[in-house]
Amino acid sequence: MRDDKCIFCKIANGEIPSATLYEDEDFRVILDLGPATKGHALILPKNHFANLFEIPEDMDAKAFILAKKIAKKMKDVFGCDGVNIVQNNGVAAGQTVFHFHIHLIPRYEGDHAGV
Ligand code: 5GP
Ligand code: ZN
Repeated sequence: MRDDKCIFCKIANGEIPSATLYEDEDFRVILDLGPATKGHALILPKNHFANLFEIPEDMDAKAFILAKKIAKKMKDVFGCDGVNIVQNNGVAAGQTVFHFHIHLIPRYEGDHAGV
């Protein structure tokens, strides 16, 4: 399932190069282009789903299991003190790219990131 006009489809499937932290058959995890903090990452499914309401349950379950795994490693990799896991649906909620994704935002004591 692909949307030819979707930038995250191209990134997730490796057609546009990205700073990739992790990849498997279903997902690519990349660094955000406009990071809220050092190490801000995005989990992208390789298939196109506009948001949480379109992605099948087995895939969103896998995505959140992966989010937990990567969030756990962020302390060692980036030296963060905490992690926000954020997932926006709809313009009103701040969604700007309409390909389901999960934000992993490492937090540092006193960073004032305003997430
Ligand atoms: P949203 O606002 O839809 O929840 O999140 C979209 C995120 O994607 C933003 O944090 C934005 O910085 C990031 N972003 C948008 N375009 C690109 C891109 O081409 N490459 C990467 N790595 N991140 C992007
Ligand atoms: Zn897409």
